[in-house]
Amino acid sequence: MEDKVAVVTGANKGLGFAIVKGLCQKYSGIVYLTARDESRGLEAVKKLNDLGLKAKFHSLDVTDENSIKKLAEFIKTEHGGFDVLVNNAGILEWDEVYPTYEVAKRNIETNYKSLLNIEAVLYPLLRDGARVVNVSSACGHLSNLRNKNWLDILSKQDLKEEDINHFVDEYLESIKNNTFKKEDFADDGKHAEHRVSKVALTALTAVQQRKYPNFSINAVHPGLIDTDMAKVEGGVNPDEAAKTILYLILDASPKLKGTFMWFNRKLIDWY
Ligand code: NDP
Repeated sequence: MEDKVAVVTGANKGLGFAIVKGLCQKYSGIVYLTARDESRGLEAVKKLNDLGLKAKFHSLDVTDENSIKKLAEFIKTEHGGFDVLVNNAGILEWDEVYPTYEVAKRNIETNYKSLLNIEAVLYPLLRDGARVVNVSSACGHLSNLRNKNWLDILSKQDLKEEDINHFVDEYLESIKNNTFKKEDFADDGKHAEHRVSKVALTALTAVQQRKYPNFSINAVHPGLIDTDMAKVEGGVNPDEAAKTILYLILDASPKLKGTFMWFNRKLIDWY
């Protein structure tokens, strides 16, 4: 029988590392820790080895289509397919409360657009019954938006990927053309690029679930976590935060599909 295989993106530190650690302890299969920087990734694997845990490393920069293709070729040759994917890699540039176009674009490409390439290149290798977790955020809830037109579109039952891309591109255009409206967002439009990227990711989760009924694809807000990204006091430790994601991979009913789950396993309404 073929080995089960799990892949976690952005896993050299923070939440991704904790998810890999948990999988090494509980998943009966091969676990790939992926990272964009090889030395940081290998160092993380060594840290797990020191704890008596075994993960394999493969390089993956989620913003680089070639890098995604290389991982896909490797998985195909080595394992034929895979069973678990955690789309965890993400960025948030705190210094840019109202970002420039370049910063906004980079954030949206990393946190959202990367998932479209991952879907195109890696999903064909996912086996029946696969579990995918898209790591979102509280910033990925629809309540972060105030623009009525966007709210109407993004809450449609038959929402399509094109609708989400249109929303994202409209936001980016507004930054480029200097027509950005703070009032279209919660919190006076602060870090709108993050809200847009994560709302798009959460919305995409439901769209993907409809497209791939044989997989269980869910989005998660993992809570406030004590990682390099958070830079705030009072976050939970990454191992604790990883529990919700591990639950969705290891224990949840396969019938749980297309949901938005928060850190206490609470299922949140989209609108
Ligand atoms: P960290 O900054 O600690 O880790 C982010 C990880 O993503 C790093 O491994 C980073 O790699 C990786 N990464 C960034 N860009 C890329 C890329 N292009 N390709 C591959 N990997 C990349 O943050 P967290 O662990 O806190 O965040 C993990 C996820 O959890 C994110 O999606 C985040 O939005 C989400 N989240 C976090 C919250 C928190 O409170 N911390 C709250 C809600 C959601 P490198 O080391 O090379 O930069």
